[in-house]
Amino acid sequence: MNQAIAGKVVVITGASSGLGEATARHLAALGACVVLGARRMDLLNTIAEEITAAGGKAAIARTDVTQAGDLTRLVETALAVFGKVDVLINNAGLMAIAPIDALKVEEWERMIDINIKGVLYGIAAALPYFRAQNSGHFINISSVAGAKVFSPGGTVYSGTKFAVRAISEGLRHELAASGGTIRTTTILPGAVDTELAGGSSHAESAAGLKEFYKQAIPADAVARAVAYAIEQPDGVDINEIVLRPTVQE
Ligand code: NDP
Repeated sequence: MNQAIAGKVVVITGASSGLGEATARHLAALGACVVLGARRMDLLNTIAEEITAAGGKAAIARTDVTQAGDLTRLVETALAVFGKVDVLINNAGLMAIAPIDALKVEEWERMIDINIKGVLYGIAAALPYFRAQNSGHFINISSVAGAKVFSPGGTVYSGTKFAVRAISEGLRHELAASGGTIRTTTILPGAVDTELAGGSSHAESAAGLKEFYKQAIPADAVARAVAYAIEQPDGVDINEIVLRPTVQE
């Protein structure tokens, strides 16, 4: 239990695996009420059942972040089950690494739809409630690839993660200028051991990633960074957290 986190209602997209799942489990163990969104309902069900069996509080809603209406329903689920929303973690993401010359146009579109539009739809769904209750916290998952372009292969993925960072920083400015009661945090992880590296359909890039991810850190490390941002007192906004394996350059 953590007094600063207990009772907070935290909505998490992409909560069926990896960072989202680890963050849900960690925050629930600290006393948060977690609301999990993703497309794989079987996984969400199992995670929510395990959280509940361990004495935590969890709700789930099928959420495809490329559909704005799904984000609205996810936020409405939090309101219906727990009566408020304190934090939205825009975490769902896809990393389809390939050189530009491979012209994986469909994968570019999917990354843009999930990684960028998905974050914007999440903001659109939660902001009216944050405004109405005069408090709230956006936590957007970018990447170290949102600060440095990993090439070859990372161009479009990095483009989406730079965009997440730009949107987060612009949002933070606007929210600060209009009262400063709503916080914005951007998390930039390096290699983390999740399903993400399996998202590449380009054989050579996939093989390179497999090698790179041998040094990955566990998803718990990101969950603890998220908890640190949430547990700060009102008026303190952790703007950005960068974390990566000690051996990652
Ligand atoms: P995972 O592949 O394990 O998780 C991705 C999650 O996103 C899954 O829960 C998946 O759920 C969800 N997702 C994918 N597409 C959609 C969609 N259309 N609608 C809703 N949910 C979707 O990877 P990670 O946990 O690693 O990734 C989480 C975030 O962390 C991503 O934004 C990623 O870019 C970022 N990140 C990860 C790093 C790493 O090394 N792992 C490093 C830096 C950043 P489902 O399929 O059930 O819908």
